Amino acid sequence: MINYSHIMVRFGELSTKGKNKKDFIRILAENIKRGLKEYENLSYEIRYDHIYIALNDTPYDPVISVLKDISGIRSVSLVYRLEKDIAKIKADSLELIKNEEGKTFKVLAKRSDKKFELTSEEITRAVASNILKNTTLKVDVHNPDIPLNIEVRDEAAYIFFKTYICAGGYPLGVGGKTMHMLSGGIDSPAAAFLMMKRGVTIECIHFASPPYTQMGVIYKLEDLLRVLNKWQAKIRLHIIPFTKIQEAIYDNAPESYCITLMRRMMFRLADRLARRRKCLVISSGESVGQVASQTLQSMRVINAVTNMPVIRPCAVMDKIDIIDLSKKIGTYEISIRPYEDCCTIFTPKNPKTMPQEEEVVKFESKFDYESLINEALANVEVKFISDEDDSNNLL
Ligand code: ATP
Ligand code: MG
Repeated sequence: MINYSHIMVRFGELSTKGKNKKDFIRILAENIKRGLKEYENLSYEIRYDHIYIALNDTPYDPVISVLKDISGIRSVSLVYRLEKDIAKIKADSLELIKNEEGKTFKVLAKRSDKKFELTSEEITRAVASNILKNTTLKVDVHNPDIPLNIEVRDEAAYIFFKTYICAGGYPLGVGGKTMHMLSGGIDSPAAAFLMMKRGVTIECIHFASPPYTQMGVIYKLEDLLRVLNKWQAKIRLHIIPFTKIQEAIYDNAPESYCITLMRRMMFRLADRLARRRKCLVISSGESVGQVASQTLQSMRVINAVTNMPVIRPCAVMDKIDIIDLSKKIGTYEISIRPYEDCCTIFTPKNPKTMPQEEEVVKFESKFDYESLINEALANVEVKFISDEDDSNNLL
């Protein structure tokens, strides 16, 4: 009996990237090998238009499920590789289709090796007539039970039936690095995933206000990041002690302005840390209009403290769609665990939805926030969340 020999990996958007393509393929291949490292029998063939993974008797289901989550892969197919010989293509197609379930079929042949002796239509006709002659299957060109794909490429011919749609996007690591603001809510982990999907590596910054916020928040963040490890194997988490800054804000600004000031401090800290860590942008889970600090007016006043680009992947998404995404990636159940965030503890009854920058600056001038920021940065705690082992404090 003949068996599927390879997985054919098709590239996502990187096929449009011209001269950077080589680097993209190299990085994607590294990501794939890292994701599949436990399957020792696999071997890899990296080509300009596809990556082929030879199964060498490895079960394909778990391999395909890993590949589905790797950004930069558009789709994969489980393929049978054979010589470019029409007699063999006919014989092996017949044998393979006998294992498929269904009553109707359609042959979809593609010849990218133009030197092959038959055209795509001729291949289709030869293979289909052989199947009609030797089985009870019928042809249905519109809605076949069994789509039989044949591709004749430069290196070999391929026969396959199923294509699995994958994550798409760009390979992680081709898009530089972001300092991502991770709160422990629903939105920021979803936003982190969307950044990674575009090939951007993340480092996370979290503002913690002990004793108002508990250690439980940190465990929650670690659990969230372990889910995100599926896409990025190692994630650095910076925990910023935020208590003194928050207390200073509450001593120096009216309650309604506290959130605006607090978020400006968060962005100042994120900006400083991002530069220190060579991140090119800051990103967050903010979504327009969701809460008082996320009106456009609030965002403008808050954003004014940094001239780094701030990317907000969830900015125009509805909450329900963000929730759906977080369920899909597996962070939702962790995000809804109850916890006290520094924001939830000091939530004023009537936060400003239309804060005025002159007012904010007036309140900020009442205390020496620069030295508080320096102190917080000097006391940052770093954790390293990795899918490889459970030791958190490697770096
Ligand atoms: P989330 O569901 O991500 O917590 P949210 O809807 O609760 O978001 P906010 O609390 O206003 O909204 O926070 C908006 C964004 O600011 C968050 O998505 C996150 O990126 C960032 N942020 C908020 N609090 C913190 C924090 N304690 N540490 C780090 N980032 C934070
Ligand atoms: Mg929040």
